[in-house]
Amino acid sequence: MTLVSCSTPCNLCGSEHAEQVGSVDRDGQPLRTVLCQNCGLVWTDPRPDSQQTRKFYSEEYRLQYKATYVPKRKHVYRETLRAIARYQAVASLLRPGMKLLDVGSGGGFFPYVARQQGLDAQGIEPNQGFAEYAQSTFGVPTTNDFLQDVNIPQECFDFISLNHVLEHVEDPCATLAQLRKWLKPDGYLVVEVPNVEATYHAPQNRYHVGHLYNFNPPTLELLGTKAGLTVHRSKLVTSADHVHVTFRPAAVNVQRNDFTMPENYRRVAGVLHRHTTLRHYASPVPYQRFVSKQLQYLTEKRAVRGDSGPREIADSLIAEHLSTAARHAA
Ligand SMILES: [Zn+2]
Repeated sequence: MTLVSCSTPCNLCGSEHAEQVGSVDRDGQPLRTVLCQNCGLVWTDPRPDSQQTRKFYSEEYRLQYKATYVPKRKHVYRETLRAIARYQAVASLLRPGMKLLDVGSGGGFFPYVARQQGLDAQGIEPNQGFAEYAQSTFGVPTTNDFLQDVNIPQECFDFISLNHVLEHVEDPCATLAQLRKWLKPDGYLVVEVPNVEATYHAPQNRYHVGHLYNFNPPTLELLGTKAGLTVHRSKLVTSADHVHVTFRPAAVNVQRNDFTMPENYRRVAGVLHRHTTLRHYASPVPYQRFVSKQLQYLTEKRAVRGDSGPREIADSLIAEHLSTAARHAA
């Protein structure tokens, strides 16, 4: 174990000392990853240089300059199915007419599914090409900006979702605190992130230059508490064991000053140390993952034969998997 002092203090407990758990990213480029011994949060320290980050975002940057984004039909199919699964996972919390905000809404698939179910859904998306696609193809009102630069009145939304976004931001606690302000007092904030405890990636592929933070359920839950939220429910979802936490605004801003969880540090350290390359390839996980991906590609290829447009593809999947708002009301 190598103990290091950090250039960025722990976003959860404030500690500046951590254990080094990684030295390269999944492309083999230098990237130091550290694990907080006080709470178990994992982050990139120091932050990757802009050249490295730019490489990761290069495709998006290109799209941003061109301001166009035209996903292939198989991607429309895949993204719509994902959006439907996301909708189904939270459907019990949603009612027609609710104001919903999807932060990091990409091509607008999730807000579109929600709008088709009768919700007043919109998105925030920093990438211009994605934002314009969402608007022009799906009619989803989309604010093309970074979340911290958007001016939204307080207590505006019934439901906010942040799907695989929090791991990319520089200050996740500040992000959650900002979203809390936008929530109505009886609203819900659903946050999903990859789980640092998941072992579906080979150990050498665990750390990603685009992911500044790596959470497990206790670190995400406690970070929400620090940001003035309370956990409504917390679960693991999909075969990748993503962390999926539903928060509500805390009734009284509970002033908790101690964010240490030494038992959670031991839990994360144990998982990371046990998951070796040898164990990974000796388990069925990588092979099952390969087979299920191939099957997925085959299904997608078959499904998008013909010449239907993106909206037709999305609408027919929504009709197949979800009952419509009209049928709800009937
Ligand atoms: Zn910490």
